[in-house]
Amino acid sequence: MSITREGRMCSFCGTSGGPGTDVQLIGGLGAQVCGTCVDDFHALLHDPVQHAAAKGAFPWDRMSDAEVLANLSMIMASAEQNTAFAHEWVDLLRERNISWAEIGRALGVSRQAVWERFARKGSDKSATA
Ligand SMILES: [Zn+2]
Repeated sequence: MSITREGRMCSFCGTSGGPGTDVQLIGGLGAQVCGTCVDDFHALLHDPVQHAAAKGAFPWDRMSDAEVLANLSMIMASAEQNTAFAHEWVDLLRERNISWAEIGRALGVSRQAVWERFARKGSDKSATA
């Protein structure tokens, strides 16, 4: 198993991207960002006029209730994408023969707790390793 960007979405705007699409995604820690968002955020951070206008204000402060509501499904999809990435990351660790106990220590939980949360039922039944 390998971790890819296939089937991922931009965590900031919800645009689907990755291999096989025209939208290149980059990211880390599970979050993905598209080029359009990178450009928009770069302009916001480096244009003094945009930066001053945005300072102290959150985008949702300017959204209508309908816009706030419309963003909920994308927020949930982004959260699910990050959760799926965490599972893939644990799979990667297991492929590297990192024990459940070590993974649990990294997360500050017991071996059993991390196994119950991340083990792929039916494929990794070794709660003791
Ligand atoms: Zn985006």
